[in-house]
Amino acid sequence: MSVHQNKSPHSQTLDISINEMERDVQTLEWTPDSAKQIGMELEGSSPETVLRWGFENFSPSIVMATGFGPEGIVLMHLVSEIRPETIVFYLDTDLLFSHTYELRDELVKRLGIRFERVHSGISLPEQALRHGDKLWDRDPDTCCHIRKVIPQRQFLASYNAWITGIRRDQTVFRANTKLVEWDYANKMVKLNPLAAWTSDQVWEHIQINNLPYNPLHDYGYPSIGCWTCTKAVEPGQDPRSGRWAGNAKTECGIHLPSIQKQ
Ligand code: SF4
Repeated sequence: MSVHQNKSPHSQTLDISINEMERDVQTLEWTPDSAKQIGMELEGSSPETVLRWGFENFSPSIVMATGFGPEGIVLMHLVSEIRPETIVFYLDTDLLFSHTYELRDELVKRLGIRFERVHSGISLPEQALRHGDKLWDRDPDTCCHIRKVIPQRQFLASYNAWITGIRRDQTVFRANTKLVEWDYANKMVKLNPLAAWTSDQVWEHIQINNLPYNPLHDYGYPSIGCWTCTKAVEPGQDPRSGRWAGNAKTECGIHLPSIQKQ
């Protein structure tokens, strides 16, 4: 099965409304049902097999997303060996740890990753002017929507498929993640090659291949996002409990829509 290469080169113009970006699902050969069917057929396949399937069916209209977590490191390693020209994008909220930017630079050196920075176009002072200071403390959903969800949606509008590092055992919302599924929010195919992996498998791959990772993981930070919303956790605690600690929020919103509508 192939996809129509019918999209214009991506743009990061950030004043387009989400409605203007809405794509007609019918213009693509891929549908929620066909993605579901492929997801079932690929169940049990290795991450390499899922990636190869994705590249064969969508290149060059396929990108990988990373937040620089250990899963992203594993996928970047595999992608660098299978299709090194793949663009890997990250959401720069202006609030990432300095260690994260250093890791990005190390990955360019070690694996030759082609990164693309995706940004809201809204500086922190501008956000404070419009929504008040420290929006992340008062309304993290809106803050994530402005700095992550909208920029990502606009970026993905130029592609037909994207690759993520989410795993089923990370949160209850991710428990039904398929290796390949339909992303309802972005109206495109989503590949989750590590969906069935455990955290131990991820770390084993990193260690065996001597891959770089964020040093904060060695200091009690199993899951790392913006420094404003990330805390260290005690041994044995839920690895994601340090994200938006003290708030019911567990997801920034970039993965929720496709998970909830499955
Ligand atoms: S993680 Fe926190 S600071 Fe980062 S975008 Fe979301 S609410 Fe804002």
